[in-house]
Amino acid sequence: MAHADAIVIGSGPNGLAAAIVIARTGRKVLVLEGANTVGGGCRSAALTLPGFVHDVCSAVHPFAVASPVFRSMPLREHGVDWLEPPVMLAHPLDGGRAAVTYRSIPRTADALGADGSVYQRVFDRVVADWPAIDDAVLGPLRWPRHPLTLARFGLSALQSAERFASRSFATDAARAMFAGIAAHSMLPLDTMLTAGVGLVLAATAHAVGWVVPRGGAQCIADALAAYLRSLGGEIVTGTPVRSIDDLPPARAILCDLSPRPLLTIAGHRFPPAYRRALERYRYGMGVFKVDWALDGPIPWSHPECALAGTVHLGGTLDEVAASERDARNGRVSERPFVLLSQPTIVDASRAPAGRHVAWTYCHVPHGSTADMQPAIERQIERFAPGFRDRVLARAVKTPADFERDNPNYVGGDIGAGVTDMFQFFTRPTWRTYSTPVRGLYLCSASTPPGVGVHGMCGYFAAQRALNEVLRD
Ligand SMILES: Cc1cc2nc3c(=O)[nH]c(=O)nc-3n(C[C@H](O)[C@H](O)[C@H](O)COP(=O)(O)OP(=O)(O)OC[C@H]3O[C@@H](n4cnc5c(N)ncnc54)[C@H](O)[C@@H]3O)c2cc1C
Repeated sequence: MAHADAIVIGSGPNGLAAAIVIARTGRKVLVLEGANTVGGGCRSAALTLPGFVHDVCSAVHPFAVASPVFRSMPLREHGVDWLEPPVMLAHPLDGGRAAVTYRSIPRTADALGADGSVYQRVFDRVVADWPAIDDAVLGPLRWPRHPLTLARFGLSALQSAERFASRSFATDAARAMFAGIAAHSMLPLDTMLTAGVGLVLAATAHAVGWVVPRGGAQCIADALAAYLRSLGGEIVTGTPVRSIDDLPPARAILCDLSPRPLLTIAGHRFPPAYRRALERYRYGMGVFKVDWALDGPIPWSHPECALAGTVHLGGTLDEVAASERDARNGRVSERPFVLLSQPTIVDASRAPAGRHVAWTYCHVPHGSTADMQPAIERQIERFAPGFRDRVLARAVKTPADFERDNPNYVGGDIGAGVTDMFQFFTRPTWRTYSTPVRGLYLCSASTPPGVGVHGMCGYFAAQRALNEVLRD
């Protein structure tokens, strides 16, 4: 491209969303991606055997469906086909029991027995208030459009998940299910705001579904890339940017980077106070991931687990909480909380006939070098005896592998920074998308609203660039 109005560094979902928002205004946009394929944390590859398509990072995509900016794009025309599993989530417990989240709130409540009426009341309200909540959780800090609704939600959301679950629910099944959902926060479950993560994520299961794209996460990135190209945007892969000084002139540069790699390529341009603020940004626990090629479906003890797109393996609330506390406190858990996705129950295109793939990860201490594969497989065997006999091949990814493949994931922190009360609204600093350098912006998950495949960080960063340096 001879001359770009805007250059985007990185082609993760936020980088591509930012590029599209700018390209839609008729401006010329160039995306430079360090890896050989587009997508960042939204990619798929044959990690184990030929014919088995695994998601390298993201697998389950409620936020992509809920995202206002993705909803404004013709992703279906560019190949995205959402598949909804019969059961959103199963959380098996010892003794052959399981808590189950269905798309329907009444059905979920029914299955929860004694906690059914509380569950129904809580989630009827959260889903009814969803438009107001969605506006707040998928955007930067601003005066809410529905302050009363949001204040009501905030009373529950600000609590810790442990407190909320133990006060709201009486059964170990409902408590465990809520704890597992809240544990996506990558925070100890006695931390404020973890109830909010649980409430929002559980609400998405009912409001939009915990869906998977046919063909894997790469289809989302490929659709974004195809739409961008249809708008005249250009993407160059295999081009890591070592310094922003190497870039051709452009009115705006948007970095799909977390603070550490931003400092590497642009730190010399920042005043010391901003550099220090970025250096103070906190990264959290890492993840250890295992993918399998399987010669058949996972032999779950509980039948609903076989129908669930996502299965949470960690037992009771206390066990899940202990595992997350360990990861935060630098201890390796013997019984880690494991998140598992089994897309082949709804998407036969991901494996040869009759075969399956499975995707899991557990949280580990920041930068941990521990091998968690045996512990993860023990947790699956606990609820699916005979699982190991189905394994044809496996691929393992450590925190160091994550950081090597994508410098945003420092220490294996796939959230690109802790998302607690202090780093939720003002990530990575109070300037959020802006930097002290005119025309240089951040558009990654290290800005609000943070982790997830939703593109909203890119949308808000692009809006800021359009309002400030791309006005005419
Ligand atoms: C194991 C795992 C599981 C996940 N599961 C889910 C899930 O199920 N659902 C969900 O919604 N989210 C999930 N996520 C989170 C989601 O993937 C991320 O939040 C999302 O991808 C962040 O998007 P981004 O555009 O901000 O950055 P990234 O996706 O991190 O993209 C950044 C891009 O910038 C490139 N880059 C970095 N430095 C340079 C440089 N110097 N020059 C050029 N290019 C560079 C990188 O190669 C990368 O392509 C998961 C993430 C991981 C790792």
